[in-house]
Amino acid sequence: MLIAGNWKMNTDVSSCVELARGVVRESKNAGMVRVTVCPPNVFLSSVGAVLDGTRVSLGAQNMHALGRGAYTGEVSGEMLRSLGCHHVILGHSERRQYFRETDAEINRKAKKALKLGLVPIVCVGENLDQRRAGKEFEVVAFQVKYALEDLALLSSNALIIAYEPVWAIGTGETATPAQAQHMHALIRTLVRQQFGSKIGNDLHILYGGSMKPANARDLLSERDVDGGLIGGASLQSDVFGQIIQAAREVEEGRRAAGAD
Ligand code: PEP
Repeated sequence: MLIAGNWKMNTDVSSCVELARGVVRESKNAGMVRVTVCPPNVFLSSVGAVLDGTRVSLGAQNMHALGRGAYTGEVSGEMLRSLGCHHVILGHSERRQYFRETDAEINRKAKKALKLGLVPIVCVGENLDQRRAGKEFEVVAFQVKYALEDLALLSSNALIIAYEPVWAIGTGETATPAQAQHMHALIRTLVRQQFGSKIGNDLHILYGGSMKPANARDLLSERDVDGGLIGGASLQSDVFGQIIQAAREVEEGRRAAGAD
């Protein structure tokens, strides 16, 4: 189980460091749950210093597909790697919507991230019109196919997919556990077809979209939900901590059931 916080364009340097310290405290009792936080790029270094030697890993919210060059304002995977990042979110719906990112571009970034040993968290998800039109499976299948096309994926740990229905991001609306499970199962089937059953079975598929303490346990209890990508509720460490605890309880329940 992985619980990831996406801090988006929030915090300043001191509140970011304070939040990171809070997450470290909240993660002391995370059990087997892995925790990662994705601060704004300008604070990666300061947050990295707080996370150093702790069990919380560092992630970024985006990267450029190329290593260097005249791309004013951009940040490369190499730069993220040099700051100690383990994960990078790619293709978040806000990037797709406001910055016109395409699946082809996300695919180039994912290939580059894999080459660098950065674990991409590739986001997919339908918008409200697409769901209302009954096209959610078609849309997500298309995104998975083209965002992951020809990836040289050797292990299930090298990639994470986050299913984030756009209508549930930052809106307070959440997919029902059944809706999330249905989509996660489809994504897992597609990953199995593309990368084989071992990788498909073990790959982490996160749910994202207004996950909070009140709904985390139900969502995380679904069979194909392996964690959460959390925006708003990751900005307060105690609230984020409650989600980590929900994940821990679900994870321990799964292990206990497996041991029976
Ligand atoms: C996100 O931005 O990835 C997200 C899931 O946001 P929120 O939890 O605020 O809906």
